[in-house]
Amino acid sequence: MSHFSQYAAEVSLWIKAIFDSEAGRAVISDPAVYDLANNVKELAIRLESSEPIEEEIQELQRRADMLSVRLKAAQTHKGKEGWRAVSVPIGQHKLPPLPYAYNSLEPVISEEIMRLHHDKHHKAYVDGLNKAELMMEKARSSNDFSLLKHWEKEAAFHGSGHYLHTIFWGIMNPKGGGKPTGALLRQIEKDFGSYDSFKKHFSEAAKQVEGVGWALLVWSSRSRKLEILQSEFHMNLTQWDTIPLLVLDVWEHAYYLQYKNNRADYVENWWKVVYWPNVEYRWARAKQVQWTPF
Ligand code: MN
Repeated sequence: MSHFSQYAAEVSLWIKAIFDSEAGRAVISDPAVYDLANNVKELAIRLESSEPIEEEIQELQRRADMLSVRLKAAQTHKGKEGWRAVSVPIGQHKLPPLPYAYNSLEPVISEEIMRLHHDKHHKAYVDGLNKAELMMEKARSSNDFSLLKHWEKEAAFHGSGHYLHTIFWGIMNPKGGGKPTGALLRQIEKDFGSYDSFKKHFSEAAKQVEGVGWALLVWSSRSRKLEILQSEFHMNLTQWDTIPLLVLDVWEHAYYLQYKNNRADYVENWWKVVYWPNVEYRWARAKQVQWTPF
């Protein structure tokens, strides 16, 4: 047995021990961890009985490392509900409580507005998102995607509504006002010139939103700078507060020269070139951004 397949055999013993113990099974009951554990298990079994090359072993090592990080994280979150305490099951979003009294933003925002806005409007987004998620789950289980476009729109509209309002309640407070301090102030000055010009730009963006929508200060993890954006409605077909992992360009320029108007063939073929290790890497990094689940 080569050095490499020896390592694969060790990994596969480690995984087997996790699957065989009750404590291990409790930790991997998180579907995300479970999938990764299964993935590592399959790869390890395949490599221990073949003559793996160095790259394959490095890939196994990378995935095993990722799994070990996820296991540790899952263990620290293992409360009475296990993984349910740290993720929102399909169709089970909840209206987060307002972090202060309904009247405490007066006179800037009246108690009446806060009651309606939080209890009625935000609640409707939570209900709409739950419904959309359940209907999309139903589409997957029945393999009937005929109404998918509708439910995707609902998921984007209500999902962004829910996530943005959840942020909105938190970034206001009766003790609010003034200016940011420290590193955030320095970043604002770096990216917008000064706090005053940031404030002017943000206010104008808000005033100029066409119809209904939002103004947002966002952090671009790609360019590593702050940006101000507008969103019409809650943002067409996007759920703000999510991070893209796997994306497929279906603009004509991506396939027309080769596939003409046959987008379906392009989409089906495209799966043959999807590089999952990169998607896994993006997911592992994205998962490090964690807010309280609602
Ligand atoms: Mn609103």
